[in-house]
Amino acid sequence: MSHLLHRNLKATYPVAVGGKGVTLIDADGRSYIDASGGAAVSCLGHGHPDILAAMHAQIDKLAYAHTSFFTSDPAEELADHLIAHAPKGLSNVFICSSGSEAIEACLKLARHYFIETGQTRRTHFISRRQSYHGITVGALSVGGRMKDRAPFKEMLLAGHHIAPCHAYRGQHTDETPEAYGLRMADELEAKILELGSDTVAAFVAETVVGATLGASPPAPGYFRRIREICDRHGVLLILDEVMCGMGRTGSLHACEQEGIAPDLMAIAKGLGAGYAPIGAMLASGRIVEAVRQGSGAFPHSQTYNGHPLACAAALAVQQVIARDDLLANVRLQGAHLERRLKERFGNHHHVGDIRGRGHFWGIELVADRTSKTPFDAGLKLNARIKQAAMARGLLVYPMGGTADGVRGDHVLLAPPFIADAAVMDTIVERLGEAVDAAIADAV
Ligand code: PMP
Repeated sequence: MSHLLHRNLKATYPVAVGGKGVTLIDADGRSYIDASGGAAVSCLGHGHPDILAAMHAQIDKLAYAHTSFFTSDPAEELADHLIAHAPKGLSNVFICSSGSEAIEACLKLARHYFIETGQTRRTHFISRRQSYHGITVGALSVGGRMKDRAPFKEMLLAGHHIAPCHAYRGQHTDETPEAYGLRMADELEAKILELGSDTVAAFVAETVVGATLGASPPAPGYFRRIREICDRHGVLLILDEVMCGMGRTGSLHACEQEGIAPDLMAIAKGLGAGYAPIGAMLASGRIVEAVRQGSGAFPHSQTYNGHPLACAAALAVQQVIARDDLLANVRLQGAHLERRLKERFGNHHHVGDIRGRGHFWGIELVADRTSKTPFDAGLKLNARIKQAAMARGLLVYPMGGTADGVRGDHVLLAPPFIADAAVMDTIVERLGEAVDAAIADAV
């Protein structure tokens, strides 16, 4: 019996013992193509020699120094690299150990900014239903998956939610994508006015929604309107690019494709590519300057901020992505993956939608394509697909999502940026077999 507190205490898990390139290997010698990078983490695959060399070199010098005494070269160089490639206006980096912590930092800095600037009534955060922003209490409070929130609801901060921008389930048949995007964005303005515009601190959203909606990109113009609304009401825009950022969608930041920049942004997962636990908040110069002119301090720090070994790993990951122009590969092979997915699943009776960008794709499974009726939740189709895929040597990330009360199963693909066309072909072939086998088994 394991002494680890696993998420599912009734399940048993294979033991991962090794990995090379796009492949993970378990203790029984089975190998799996890692088509989801865990949860969109391992963007360089496993055992990348340049990352291992950078980590070895750093640990030979220094593993750790507390940030209340010292800064370190890897932390400073990583911050320089991130800001050199950041969306316009972002000037400073707070380095922590996970996505949830990066979101907590965004929420706290947003609130702190308003205290520093005398706008103390701004306490409300608005986010979207069906969203996931992490598991700590602040992050869960802005999260919009009611199932995750329910057991802890008495512990959470008040959160205000609007509808997600999720065309497959939300766009009316007589509506253009642009009109849908504006209609959804205008929900934010209505919510700000309802709460009182001088009481709202920030709006929090994932640029491309990952785990909960299966790589669902925003409608065209949605985020441009969101940016305008935030500016009009003095509300900060916090983008959660923990999953969709750092190259996953084919540009370094997903918001580049929306033509906007946030005031605060959370990144993690692909930042360190799984070689070290690391997350970060990127903050705008306007916010940091207000704090500098005011108290001069952001009262929010943690023991492992700017961890030198984690920063050395992340810096090496980001340098390899730039050196090898891997985002060009993400765009090229992402287009190939899209074609293959559409060939294999485009006419599938039980696939309602195929959506995504770059190396970030979701397919949504439905009992009936015409009515978009989801499968019965009791069938646990997502768990069956995960098992059927693993039995075929494939790791994918299936979720039982919900969309405004309508439950839908989807499979999320997040292959490493190094994947070539042959790997994409094998992923789609194995996924097709796994989906068919799981559905045949379930119904
Ligand atoms: N935001 C998003 C969009 C995520 O996908 C996740 C992780 N799945 C988080 C935040 C939380 O990150 P972590 O699990 O590293 O705390």
